[in-house]
Amino acid sequence: MTASGLDDSTLQQILTAAGARDGQFFAITPRTDCPHVPTNVQVPTVAITTPCQTCGDASENWICVACHGVLCSRYVKGDMSAHAGAEADHSVAVSFSDLSTWCFKCNDYIDNPVLQPLRSFLHKQKFGEPMPAPRGLELDATRVASGSDSKGKGRQH
Ligand SMILES: [Zn+2]
Ligand SMILES: [Zn+2]
Ligand SMILES: [Zn+2]
Repeated sequence: MTASGLDDSTLQQILTAAGARDGQFFAITPRTDCPHVPTNVQVPTVAITTPCQTCGDASENWICVACHGVLCSRYVKGDMSAHAGAEADHSVAVSFSDLSTWCFKCNDYIDNPVLQPLRSFLHKQKFGEPMPAPRGLELDATRVASGSDSKGKGRQH
């Protein structure tokens, strides 16, 4: 069991160390094995300036990838977090601030190729051009090669 090679936390430590050396590239190391990403993610039609649908704050919002609801971050009123807690399959959200993707069930940044069209849509609004090819895919390949039985660590209780 313990001979299975890199587990998630070991991989995280290695990537964090790499990030410390290279500066900003790997400051955020997303999980690529989040099982909570909806299977058919639709590209939203909302503007990236849309205010929180619950409290109306426009300073720091997230979009729920399941229903495209726009809700504020934990640094405002935490309405996205509350939404994720209330709706069973709405735990993944993309930040309007930096386009990072957070899973409230994994409690971690995540990445998944199916989110690319949605993030690219937001990226285009924010920066005027589509999102460049994701770096995360290289990390994904590394993870797959290091053993496919690494899911025990990430199991939900
Ligand atoms: Zn997850
Ligand atoms: Zn709010
Ligand atoms: Zn939702």
